[in-house]
Amino acid sequence: MYDMTVFDDLLKVLQLGDGGYDLEKIKSAYALAADAHAGQFRDSGEPFVSHPVAVALILAGLGMDSDTLVAALLHDTVEDTDMTLEEVAARFGDDTAQLVDGVTKLRRLPFSSREEEQAENIRKMLMVTARDVRVTIIKLADRLHNMRTIGVRPPQNRRDNALETMEIYAPIAHRLGIHTIKEELEELSLRYLDPVGYAEIENQLNMKAEERKQFLERIKAKITARLSEKFDDVFIEGRVKGIYGIYRKLYMQDRTMEEIYDIYAIRVIVDTVDECYQVFGEMQDMFNPIPSRFKDYISNPKANMYQSLHTTVFDKEASATPFEVQIRTWEMHQTAEFGVASHWRYKAAAEADGTRINIKSDAALEKKISWVRQFLEAQKDSVDSREILGAIKSDLATDEVFVYTPKGDVITLPAGSTVVDFAYSIHSEIGSRMNGAKIDGRMVSLDTQLQTGNIVNILIANDESRGPSRDWLTFVKTSSARNKIRQWFKRERLEENIEAGQSDLLKEMRRYNILLEDEELELFTEKFARSRRFHSSREFLAAIGYGGISLTNIMPALREAYRRQYDRPDEEQIKRQLLRTSAQKPRKASAGVIVEGLEGCKVNYAKCCGPLPGDDIVGYVTRGSGVSVHKRDCVNADLTIGEPNQKERWVNCQWAKGAAAEKFKSTVDVIGKDRPGLLLDVSILLNNMHLAVSSIIAREYGEDMTAIQITFGVSDLEQLHHVSGALKKVSGISRVERVTQ
Ligand code: MN
Repeated sequence: MYDMTVFDDLLKVLQLGDGGYDLEKIKSAYALAADAHAGQFRDSGEPFVSHPVAVALILAGLGMDSDTLVAALLHDTVEDTDMTLEEVAARFGDDTAQLVDGVTKLRRLPFSSREEEQAENIRKMLMVTARDVRVTIIKLADRLHNMRTIGVRPPQNRRDNALETMEIYAPIAHRLGIHTIKEELEELSLRYLDPVGYAEIENQLNMKAEERKQFLERIKAKITARLSEKFDDVFIEGRVKGIYGIYRKLYMQDRTMEEIYDIYAIRVIVDTVDECYQVFGEMQDMFNPIPSRFKDYISNPKANMYQSLHTTVFDKEASATPFEVQIRTWEMHQTAEFGVASHWRYKAAAEADGTRINIKSDAALEKKISWVRQFLEAQKDSVDSREILGAIKSDLATDEVFVYTPKGDVITLPAGSTVVDFAYSIHSEIGSRMNGAKIDGRMVSLDTQLQTGNIVNILIANDESRGPSRDWLTFVKTSSARNKIRQWFKRERLEENIEAGQSDLLKEMRRYNILLEDEELELFTEKFARSRRFHSSREFLAAIGYGGISLTNIMPALREAYRRQYDRPDEEQIKRQLLRTSAQKPRKASAGVIVEGLEGCKVNYAKCCGPLPGDDIVGYVTRGSGVSVHKRDCVNADLTIGEPNQKERWVNCQWAKGAAAEKFKSTVDVIGKDRPGLLLDVSILLNNMHLAVSSIIAREYGEDMTAIQITFGVSDLEQLHHVSGALKKVSGISRVERVTQ
């Protein structure tokens, strides 16, 4: 009934182990997904359902449970097909439906920017993650498969996705300790973000591939020979570091391939922690260790629970090439490779033994994802989506420093953290009351960045009323320190914040020439604040004051709001205003023209050519309505053509002195490159020149061009030239032509 070929690989993997999978449930989820996605295809041309199956396969590789696989198979149905969450819940239970809901993108529209959409979707994902981390694990597998198959997408799309993957998804995988996914995501992203750099490293690695392999084999054999004498059960593997890891060191730390110490890694896996330290001793004994490059992540696990002993050594007898030895137990190895996901492996194993584990109350898992909760708590009050995104990116940054308290406890912080970040990471009270810091016994300034190995001592003021300084916001690195500083100001200094916010805002407004009277300013600020989802202008000003929103980020929107309300009326308004002023004095025939031999007669100006004082003119004596004045070069003023009895009706005319005192209508065609705001700029110019405009008609003119026909009142040819000259200076305008027939 359904094409099962894409599904077969998954089934085979599931049947391999004793993972206790509910195969019937998984099969029926596949049937439902295949049905829902029927007729949909991937860009590669494959049936769409191959994607959810591939995602489920990745998750099966991590050892995830049946519910996760079911949710993975259905993960795009609610977003991309007619299926509803209720249907999923009815067939597979609330747990699965919640997982599917967690990976379904927000539909709240409209987002004001791509960043806002991105930030809100990530916030949603993290919120669901705090309840059930499997959501994020599915999201990561989804992203991994999309990145594996992104080659068929358009280049811009590839880059956008690669950047988002590098900045957000790979760091999340790192935080969750899912090393296998993190490494592949980084590698795939790099390939599209810097194809040249990627290829260069790939080439360098390929060049001496055989040599590298031999080197690793030799070291491996040497270690195996030594350790197999002393340990019953030891597993040794050797590998070359991943391309992205090499890339970071080559380009970001500006080193050469030879200067990268840990390009080679030898992994020694044993059964117990005791054995780890014994192996470490053996390594120190048989190789030459580089003293500064020993890390004990067993007694000081990384934030993502990673544990191992690392030591960089070189084998003096063989070559001077250093390599890193990573020593760990099997349990540590599972955590290192699969991080949070390894939890489900143990759960499956425990269930096979007859033990039951309740996932949601598991303390170890709680600890592993506590950063998600902390992050959400810290970002609770953030309103600026760019801010949230920035915090996610900087908090997730994979570079870390390890520093010590005077008592010897290890504190892990993102690289670039200062002593203030350190103080706040201990306790918010210590942060807000600090008045100095010592690193390795020496006084340092508060913006001093920490280096791995520093011993940091925070000095506390006795004065309890002392608080943080606003300046700290300019240099702290972690979003939790930033938010704690802001919260302090928000809480302790409301009036001060409002004042500071108001003064900052006014300064910035003056910079942009936005000047409003007090009352007007209040109304404008209130309206703008509400449009940004604040409850009042006080709240808005306070947020500026304590740094909750950045002026740089909101000024474009504020200027736009101001422009709409006061500064420049829109195009339609200007046109209406111009047309109103031109509905002026009716034009009447005048004594501005002297008709030879017919002084004082009634004169009309021909509509075809609109003669102006200064033009050469000629008159035509009409039957019953005076003399019609044309430009001499008007096509209707060909004195030689006309019927014989009409030729004598043409008479010579001259402009009388003072003719320029009255207004004449003139029409010009303005031709320019089509761009937003062109018509507005033209309208504003005419308005500024105080011209009485009777019509403005814009139309398309060939490709990418616009012709704007304007009829307006002028006194004479000189003024027309002046107006034409000014119009030609408007950006984009290439020609201004007087319209005559
Ligand atoms: Mn998907």
